[in-house]
Amino acid sequence: MKFIFVTGGVVSSLGKGLTAASLGTLLENRGLKVALQKFDPYLNVDPGTMSPFQHGEVYVLDDGAETDLDLGHYERFTNCKLTRLNNLTSGQVYQNVLNNEREGKYLGKTVQVIPHVTDEIKRRIHLLAETSQADVIITEIGGTTGDIEGLPFLEAIREFSLEAGAGNVVFVHVTYVPFIKAAGELKTKPTQQSVAKLREIGIAPHLIVCRCEKPLEKELRQKISMFCNVPVEAVIEEQDVEHSIYEVPLMLQRERADDLICNLLHLDVPHPDMAHWQEVIRKLIAPQRRVRIGVVGKYIGLQDAYKSVYEAITHGGVGNDCGVEIVRVDSEEIEKEGAEKVLRGLGGILVPGGFGERGIEGKIKAAKFARENKVPYLGLCLGMQIATIEFARHVLKLGKAHSTEFDPDTPHPVIALLDAQKKVTKKGGTMRLGAQPCQLAVGSRAGQLYGSFVVNERHRHRYEFNNAYRERFEKAGFVCSGLSPDGKLVEVIELKDHPFFVASQFHPEFLSKPHQPHPLFKGFIAAAHQQIHKKPL
Ligand code: GLN
Repeated sequence: MKFIFVTGGVVSSLGKGLTAASLGTLLENRGLKVALQKFDPYLNVDPGTMSPFQHGEVYVLDDGAETDLDLGHYERFTNCKLTRLNNLTSGQVYQNVLNNEREGKYLGKTVQVIPHVTDEIKRRIHLLAETSQADVIITEIGGTTGDIEGLPFLEAIREFSLEAGAGNVVFVHVTYVPFIKAAGELKTKPTQQSVAKLREIGIAPHLIVCRCEKPLEKELRQKISMFCNVPVEAVIEEQDVEHSIYEVPLMLQRERADDLICNLLHLDVPHPDMAHWQEVIRKLIAPQRRVRIGVVGKYIGLQDAYKSVYEAITHGGVGNDCGVEIVRVDSEEIEKEGAEKVLRGLGGILVPGGFGERGIEGKIKAAKFARENKVPYLGLCLGMQIATIEFARHVLKLGKAHSTEFDPDTPHPVIALLDAQKKVTKKGGTMRLGAQPCQLAVGSRAGQLYGSFVVNERHRHRYEFNNAYRERFEKAGFVCSGLSPDGKLVEVIELKDHPFFVASQFHPEFLSKPHQPHPLFKGFIAAAHQQIHKKPL
């Protein structure tokens, strides 16, 4: 078994996760089985308790693990199936070490960062190696080289490489080569210094992936090679992508990063066939048709808060050979300006997941606008709850209908706490989480889109449709088209007499890939295009 460790230098947000995922794509397409994992140096046990302002999206896995959004890239770029073993935080490491200490597993010893913490980190690499049976394990270390909290992870991978032996481990360092406008040139000093920092810890990177805005000319490559002690062909240019993140694997392939890694790891495998990937890029760059989709949320200014939603919309476009312009709509803007002014002209409206009261009324207005004007609507989790509240208020005339999350005293709690949540007091990892089966009604739009009547989709919520109102809703043309197998939980709703009004209690965005768009997103984009152009695709 072979191991690749991906570290980052100079600044955060360099796209280490994308680089790791892209290497995974290339190796997988060379016939290797890959498994990817992420180590996060913060002390939260998982990112589930962090605000999107701090962390961006929380990505949910089948087994209910709430993880870092880079795991979303891993799943979208490869076929690797992830579990809670694939994301390790310092919080988990210390929790395990301290539990062991209390159980007396280190009896008589002083418990220390080296070896107890580093052993715990190494154990997780071995554990993934055993359970995944992959040919190559790619481990991304979060944070930036030089951060105090990242040191135990770097020490652990240094020890790990020593134990695994030469030819079995490759270190990839992703770094930043800034363009200094006043000088009109790219500068390599920060890269030299961050590699020096790594070498101080005892890690000598084999590949240096240089994130840059301009091409990395030969002289600069030679300079980095010389000062960072790697052959010049191991200095890899990773320029800002022009169109899409899905170009990154092709960029790394052009730089022969995968060839180099296979040579270093003595892997004798054929070159990757990336034809299907190139076809995705073609559809992204030069699509046959175009449409504009509004995403109505409250973290619209943040790049990462709705990451998987934006990606799944793009995939839905690829599936229809349709370029999608995503218009990010702040729901508070709708509250101020009115839905008509903000949403008119959009092909479709999507309301994603969310928590807390801010911006809720704007989202309700967006759902009303979509329903009344027959604009395609896709609701995800909170987006389904919003559609329910809107229908209750304006079609069933249940004034002040609400979710008890936002108004505990509402006279019409059409969305209420799940039974299983009523006794829950702790916040970490206690929502209804992970993949659950859902049965779709025969003849429903959802059933038709999926082409299947039982689906497994990922959840992350505490509130649900209140069954006391189900009959009244259904009589008025609101179809509960997806139910949990016991029939008790409403998982998908749709409207009769509407070109496309579908919403799910689950998060379909977590199961979409560029070349396998999720059926709900594919159907949504097709409907959006149709409503703008007044003819089917
Ligand atoms: N806040 C809602 C709930 O807890 C919706 C959650 C979500 O959109 N992920 O049920």
